[in-house]
Amino acid sequence: MVEMKTDEIYQYLERIANLLRTDTRRSMVEKGLQPVQLEALHYLSHCNRYSDTPAGVADYLGLTKGTVSQTLGLMENIGMIEKLPDYKDRRVVHLQLTARGRKVIAETIPPKSLQLALDQMPGVEQDSILDVLDKLLRAMQVANQLRTFGVCKTCRHHRIEMDGRHRCALTGEFLENVDIDKICREHEVPV
Ligand code: SF4
Repeated sequence: MVEMKTDEIYQYLERIANLLRTDTRRSMVEKGLQPVQLEALHYLSHCNRYSDTPAGVADYLGLTKGTVSQTLGLMENIGMIEKLPDYKDRRVVHLQLTARGRKVIAETIPPKSLQLALDQMPGVEQDSILDVLDKLLRAMQVANQLRTFGVCKTCRHHRIEMDGRHRCALTGEFLENVDIDKICREHEVPV
């Protein structure tokens, strides 16, 4: 039987999360941002076109649509994001980072302490960390019945056509090469 190490693992994750929070909080104070604003900005910087909506941000952050709407309104007012209408359905609003928003993300994420620690680590160790964290995250999402928000190319709806183009079998639409490395709120783990 596998010995359960839940407490120990939790303590490591908690301490790492605290360090990352302290690091990003320092940058946020300098830039006059709230933690939730940075989290929303970061999400919008690497999600795809099916996910860059107020509902996508709310799902990802686990917040109500009302709270997220206030946050996004403030971010728009200070020039971090802009709203763009969907080219097919004018009722749908897409949220994009402005040049100012992109600059904040580039200067803040990943936090410097993490970057410095990983610089000392061989690639193979970084790969092992990624594998383990990926497994843990997915298992927790399944346990909590949450959306997986995985990377598009790992989704069960992702297809590569004969001509090499990528296509989403859920929406039927072709995907740009840059899209397949982004996260998606419709992502489903292959069965
Ligand atoms: S293939 Fe999956 S992850 Fe990619 S766009 Fe479609 S639903 Fe989203």
